[in-house]
Amino acid sequence: MTNNASKTVADLKRSLTLTVGHGNVWFADDDAARLLPYLSESRGRRMGRAFAVVFPTCTEEVAKVVATCHFHKVPIVTQGGNTGRCFGAQADDERAVIIQLKHLNRVRDFDPDNMTITVEAGMILQDVQRYVAERGYFFSLSLGAEGSCQIGGNLAVNAGGINVLRYGNARELTLGVEAVIANGTVLNALHGLRKNNTGYDLKNLLIGSEGTLGIITAATLKIFAPESNTSHAFIALASVEDAVTTLRRLQQRFEGRVSTFELLPNLAMTLMEQHSDVKCPLDNHHPWYVWYKLADSQITRPLRDEQITFLRDLQVDGLIIDAALAHNERVKQHFEHIRETIVEVQKHAGFAIKHDVSVPVSSIAQLIAAGNAAVQQACPNVRPYPFGHVGDGNIHYNLMCPEDMDDASFMSQYKDKLQKIILDIVDGLGGSFSAEHGIGSQKVELMQTYQDPVALDMMRRIKHAFDPFNLMNPGKVVVPR
Ligand SMILES: Cc1cc2nc3c(=O)[nH]c(=O)nc-3n(C[C@H](O)[C@H](O)[C@H](O)COP(=O)(O)OP(=O)(O)OC[C@H]3O[C@@H](n4cnc5c(N)ncnc54)[C@H](O)[C@@H]3O)c2cc1C
Repeated sequence: MTNNASKTVADLKRSLTLTVGHGNVWFADDDAARLLPYLSESRGRRMGRAFAVVFPTCTEEVAKVVATCHFHKVPIVTQGGNTGRCFGAQADDERAVIIQLKHLNRVRDFDPDNMTITVEAGMILQDVQRYVAERGYFFSLSLGAEGSCQIGGNLAVNAGGINVLRYGNARELTLGVEAVIANGTVLNALHGLRKNNTGYDLKNLLIGSEGTLGIITAATLKIFAPESNTSHAFIALASVEDAVTTLRRLQQRFEGRVSTFELLPNLAMTLMEQHSDVKCPLDNHHPWYVWYKLADSQITRPLRDEQITFLRDLQVDGLIIDAALAHNERVKQHFEHIRETIVEVQKHAGFAIKHDVSVPVSSIAQLIAAGNAAVQQACPNVRPYPFGHVGDGNIHYNLMCPEDMDDASFMSQYKDKLQKIILDIVDGLGGSFSAEHGIGSQKVELMQTYQDPVALDMMRRIKHAFDPFNLMNPGKVVVPR
């Protein structure tokens, strides 16, 4: 390193330390071990590199840190709870500064008349849910990582979760954001407005941008009346077509009250019963299962009572084979726990080639039928494990290693081939190759293949307009030509 370069490094260190204080910035060359949890991907799949990790405590400090990085032209990686699955919050550059937002965790405003809460971006999702519930309201965003992911991260990947059907995903729950953009200035779009037609919607550009356009530092979010009337059912079905028809019938009958509708394959029940102490509430030999939830804030008549007749009608019409209705909170939690467990038990079936795709709900059955047939032909005995959010067309289309093949051969011989088969079918059905987890660095190449070229070109121009020096989370989502 030349004298000039070391002076620059020393200046950068001094500026960062002056901005956030000694205790809130750690440098790799002083104490590499301390940085490890922030460099490692949450499942330990990849170790990154960085110059420093900084813990600002307020928006002004975030802005100063970003301005310093901008001045020194060093990459910035924003990190929330680091629960993302696409390596989006990972720094992989020894010059990079990781901005970890966990100290931005205050509630700025709670406004029941406007039905909103304004929180800082580093607040843990579960803490937001609790804060709102303690005041007699409901914050609907809920997903498996809610104990550790942060609101800023949820917005940055436009998270969905189990209540999307009734309340919408992060984008639909957000009325305003505050963000620090690449040159260190603060964009204040933190309004609680439900109507606002004043030019381009910058809030919606920042949501889902995975830290590549700016750092979200606060958000104004919708809250709702509490769900005082819920009903959970677990049903067995002969086919995916029947599941889709059941969803339609549910939506006709309980309009606006269907909040969850999750498809589970037979293999999931088998693995769950083999490798956990969670039991299937019905016989475990049916081809498909669905866990669904209805929710209402009114108790005119308990939803459970209405459902008994509804399920009987479905059975008479031959749409469902069997059904279990939850009669208390413990059983409701059991159904919800099944959905979490079927994700965890996959590892017992060997390596899986995973896809997080979406298609129009009306094409889900076609996706699974065509996908299963094509992958079987390409790789006999591969075990499809498609599950997920039928209600929003998002299927986790995982393919398990055949029992008679070792994991290494499966991955080396079939990963690219089977991925192409599934993603081509999804593309042909007008679907998306990334429904839930975002792009990160993992799917940047898929953007070239499956994103509309005009859309990709516009995204590159937007990125350049926000971040001309490509400092905000470089290498993620879209890369300059
Ligand atoms: C067990 C489990 C279950 C899940 N289930 C679902 C589900 O049902 N539905 C669903 O949609 N998703 C689901 N996810 C994915 C989940 O939405 C994300 O992991 C989560 O929202 C990311 O939040 P985070 O704070 O951990 O962000 P991180 O992982 O830290 O970051 C994710 C991305 O956002 C960027 N980022 C983080 N904070 C900010 C910020 N303040 N400003 C700008 N950019 C930022 C990062 O740079 C990175 O690109 C699940 C994940 C897990 C682990």
